[in-house]
Amino acid sequence: MALMTSKEYIESLARMKRNIYFQGKKIENPINHPLLIPSRKCLEETYDMAFMPEYEDLITTTSQFTGHKINRFNHIHRDRDDLIKKVKMQRLMGQRTGSCFQRCVIMDMANAFYSTTYEIDKKYGTHYFDAFKNFIIKCQEEDLIVAGALTDPKGDRSAVIGGEEQDKDLYLHVVERREDGVIVNGAKCHLTGITNAHEVVVLPTQAMRPGQEDYAVAFHIPLDAEGITMIIGRQSCDTRKMEDIADIDLGNAKYGGIEALTIFDNVFVPNENLFLNGETDFAGMLVERFAGYHRNSYGGCKAGVGDVAIGAASLIAQYNGTENASHVKDKLVEMTQLNEQLYCAGIASSCEGWETKAGNYMVDLLLANVCKLNVTRYPYEIVRLLEDIAGGIMVTAPSEADLRSPEIGHYVEKYLTGHEADAETRLRALRLCENLALGTAAVGYRTESMHGAGSPQAQKIMITRQGEFNRKKDLAKHIAGIAE
Ligand code: SF4
Ligand code: FE
Repeated sequence: MALMTSKEYIESLARMKRNIYFQGKKIENPINHPLLIPSRKCLEETYDMAFMPEYEDLITTTSQFTGHKINRFNHIHRDRDDLIKKVKMQRLMGQRTGSCFQRCVIMDMANAFYSTTYEIDKKYGTHYFDAFKNFIIKCQEEDLIVAGALTDPKGDRSAVIGGEEQDKDLYLHVVERREDGVIVNGAKCHLTGITNAHEVVVLPTQAMRPGQEDYAVAFHIPLDAEGITMIIGRQSCDTRKMEDIADIDLGNAKYGGIEALTIFDNVFVPNENLFLNGETDFAGMLVERFAGYHRNSYGGCKAGVGDVAIGAASLIAQYNGTENASHVKDKLVEMTQLNEQLYCAGIASSCEGWETKAGNYMVDLLLANVCKLNVTRYPYEIVRLLEDIAGGIMVTAPSEADLRSPEIGHYVEKYLTGHEADAETRLRALRLCENLALGTAAVGYRTESMHGAGSPQAQKIMITRQGEFNRKKDLAKHIAGIAE
């Protein structure tokens, strides 16, 4: 059976000896740490739902390698239907968690590696494709969570990669080549879900040029390998998770995303784990394909979280007694229109997918980049409308501890009561609004919408490349009667 239960998943994490830090201190027991649990709960959901008959078709599929039933997050897409189901699954997961649920990076990277390693081998006679296939089969069979590491810290962006102007480690690179593997040094930023993953796949941050061979390196490595340290990023309101009475104040007490700056301090990578080692001309293809898949993913996951935001806005309008006001109805319609546009582009880029030389399916890059560029804007507008509907009380309301206080709780109850909603009910809805707009979920819904899967400029570059402006000029010339 290639599916783990969430209990087995937690046990498998507990067996790993990992180096995770928060606020300058090592987390001795990551399994019980309140900051890490909401992230893990999202991932547990991907295991639990695989056993629920109603989600079986979306969350699970059949491996083309083993014929076994596997989790779709570790799947290599065989056709357009797989690409469509991927986006539908992501929307569903966004709806269930109200958060970045952190398991998509490997699905998107795996498909990029599958097609790119095939093409590298064809050109150079290397054996990366088989190495990658063995790895993804292991992930499928053991139902592993694999994080993805793309973004280097970069330092001064104007400095040349590997040049003398700055510390070379600001881009992860090979520092030593051995008979049995390589030693790498450097760090990767914003690693989604890495604190609850088994392994990480590392790839270059961008296209590389001849002379940058040491930086054109890709591999997988278990997260308890020697030399790996994860430093959890701060999020607004994060320490509420460590308070005793803060269930209401969290807004989303169960689920949340987490990112970490991850250090690779002279980490040994054996040859069989390498998927790129100096072939600079393929670094760009790898990044472009991964980014394409992940930009398509955002049309699912962010639309799913958007559904929760629209629900939260409707709910607080009801509790505020403004539900029937025409301007509130109008705002809810606008939120829905924006949210469905994200989904439209996600689904469209799947429907227009194409078969790669390796035989798996790639999304349409123009539509996926348009999808992600919309994601850099629409969630901000959706959240603006959410804040408009919720009212200022979403950021000024007293705490749960005040509500529970024997001395002042009755004041909170009296003055926070809403339309057919007691203070606790109304506070819960308000805190969810706060969480989505400004709290821990905002990392995944707002700033991640801007910078995750690449910042807006990266999408504009791809849209420029894919936009076929010359072909469109010809169309215009034909209609206008302009001769060649
Ligand atoms: Fe998945 Fe979206 Fe999070 Fe990326 S941002 S890991 S696509 S939920
Ligand atoms: Fe992301």
